[in-house]
Amino acid sequence: MQDLIRQLLAELGENPDREGLLRTPERVEKALKFLTSGYEADVDDVLNGALFSVDYSEMVIVKDIDFYSLCEHHLLPFFGKCHIAYIPKEKVIGLSKVPRLVDVFSRRLQIQERLTNQIADMIREKIAPLGVAVVMEATHLCMSMRGVEKQNSFAVTSAMQGAFRNSARTRMEFLELIKLRSVVPSLRGGEAASLACAED
Ligand SMILES: [Zn+2]
Repeated sequence: MQDLIRQLLAELGENPDREGLLRTPERVEKALKFLTSGYEADVDDVLNGALFSVDYSEMVIVKDIDFYSLCEHHLLPFFGKCHIAYIPKEKVIGLSKVPRLVDVFSRRLQIQERLTNQIADMIREKIAPLGVAVVMEATHLCMSMRGVEKQNSFAVTSAMQGAFRNSARTRMEFLELIKLRSVVPSLRGGEAASLACAED
């Protein structure tokens, strides 16, 4: 990878041998490997020992989870907050594991819509809740740094499954609790409220 990064620096018109860039290929490789470490992560390892059987069927919400990902169209960061809710049937996930589950999928080349769905699908697969909802709000540097003409570079995506899809009341309770309703009045089950990264 380091040879490729040296080549890339030269293609950009830089001198890879100047002092400030000498160790850049090594640093970039290390950074990229970390930022894409989700490919190697095993969800079962992450959740190991943190699935608990409970007699509890109220909504569980973990909100304002920071996440950082890379847009697969431009290899530029998109980042923001992730809000997750589910209604347990028999099992819950240890709260501290939820942000780590988000990392598994965000540390890959992604588009925001797929990232949102993958997190919801994994929670459904692991604990079969009565419903699961994931909302992600993110800033896309591929839009804001490049000055892409768009009303804003802030994208909101959602995945609503089970009770969150079937019951408007459950969905609104969740959106109320994460205080998003006024921002995304049109947010409905399973639909992205706006498109994330522009593919050009
Ligand atoms: Zn992009």
